[in-house]
Amino acid sequence: MSESALHAEVLVLGGGPGGYTAAFRAADLGKKVVIVERYPVLGGVCLNVGCIPSKALLHMAQVIHEADEFDTHGISFGKPKLDIDKIRGWKESVTKNLNDGLAGLVKQRKITRVQGTGTFVDDHTIEVDGGSGKQTISFDYAIIAAGSQPTEIPVFPNDDPRLWDSTDAVSLPEIPKKLLIVGGGIIGLEMATVYHAFGTKISVVELMDQLIPGCDKDLVKPLHRHIQKKYENIWLETKVAAIEPQKRGLKVSFEGENAPDPQVFDNVLVAVGRRPNGNKIGAENAGITIDEQGFISVDKQQRTNVAHIFAIGDVVGNPMLAHKATHEGKVAAEVVCGIKAGFDALTIPSVAYTDPEIAWMGLTETEAKKQGVEYDKGAFPWAASGRSLSLGRNEGVTKILADKETGRILGAGIVGPNAGELIAEAVLALEMGADVDDLSLTVHPHPTLSETLAFAAEMINGTITDLYIRKK
Ligand code: NAD
Repeated sequence: MSESALHAEVLVLGGGPGGYTAAFRAADLGKKVVIVERYPVLGGVCLNVGCIPSKALLHMAQVIHEADEFDTHGISFGKPKLDIDKIRGWKESVTKNLNDGLAGLVKQRKITRVQGTGTFVDDHTIEVDGGSGKQTISFDYAIIAAGSQPTEIPVFPNDDPRLWDSTDAVSLPEIPKKLLIVGGGIIGLEMATVYHAFGTKISVVELMDQLIPGCDKDLVKPLHRHIQKKYENIWLETKVAAIEPQKRGLKVSFEGENAPDPQVFDNVLVAVGRRPNGNKIGAENAGITIDEQGFISVDKQQRTNVAHIFAIGDVVGNPMLAHKATHEGKVAAEVVCGIKAGFDALTIPSVAYTDPEIAWMGLTETEAKKQGVEYDKGAFPWAASGRSLSLGRNEGVTKILADKETGRILGAGIVGPNAGELIAEAVLALEMGADVDDLSLTVHPHPTLSETLAFAAEMINGTITDLYIRKK
């Protein structure tokens, strides 16, 4: 056991997007920063086994689907030949490129990187177990960015390698013939998109009465319709009762009104959410309050109940999204450095990178109804968008909700190709307090999918010409 007297003005625990952003910002503001990460590379779940590699795979899936669709437009590419090692290699090269970039940024900022698992000893000390030895680091301030991990269902045979979590699925161990996805949320449906493109027969089982339950039903519908034609089964309001490992596969039995008979799958991906890592870091030794689920509560400045210890990202609460973590990371670093900062974002956009994509921000229509908010709605069908039709797609919708009295944008949702890119305009509109006239009078380039936001706004203020709306 080696002891060293490393001291950090700011210690960051966790090297995911939240952690490295906090570390970089604190270093840029002049602090001596130490970042502790258990893996040899920075980037966390997002960069190594989440957002980025899944997007690399989704890009390949999109090309396969598009090539297939082109057949009906008069261009045939033939059946794709898959080289799984090469596919994996390309995906890993994308990740490595970004890992190397982060390592460079750490060096440029003269941040000390310590590899190992960090545990608080007290409110000014952390012990890092690097595998071959332990090291203690003292700190003036700490920022906890310890993330989350996939939720396991204890009664499932979790040691069976045929039972996957999202990390397994993204690692692309093989291309199964039959894959069951437990959980019709974002991870489940993104992975369904990938494996379906690679030739796997997909079944999805979801507990609730719709896919992506947090999103408005009318936005999920075009996705549901699109994938229903492609996947073997989508079972809603259904639960997995048991999974029995057999030689020929995993035998799954189901529960619920629509429950099918037991079936055998080559693999089962469990994607039923993530849980925070708050109770895995010895936070209690530092006096930090953690709730039953493992979340650490913080104030608007990302401060925990211990004044010099901050927390950000998945470990402080939902939504567990990298873009929330990075913003919180900047706030924490700035507050530590004496800047009057606070996390005051009006919304955190959500995107499912499925085919079609779904993106939403601000107030959902379901929430608006629940809260009794008086709103106007404009929902522009992409069947009337020249750009969408030229892509061979007509199922998209762009929906805007605006305050009935003031016309201010309250929320927006988009389903269709590239929805994830398009939603940023609506986020900016909300943050700027824009109203429907601001959106409709902004000249959008033609022909683009971005026009559909202006058209949805025009549907609210009655100036739309791209559709005919009968006068009330
Ligand atoms: P999720 O919460 O999005 O979806 C989980 C789904 O599983 C829900 O629809 C839920 O109703 C269902 N479910 C729960 N228990 C079930 C059971 N026993 N049987 C059947 N269905 C069940 O969670 P996720 O998809 O695992 O994603 C985890 C986190 O990662 C989320 O916070 C998500 O936002 C984030 N993430 C985001 C992106 C993105 O931004 N594109 C991508 C991947 C993951």
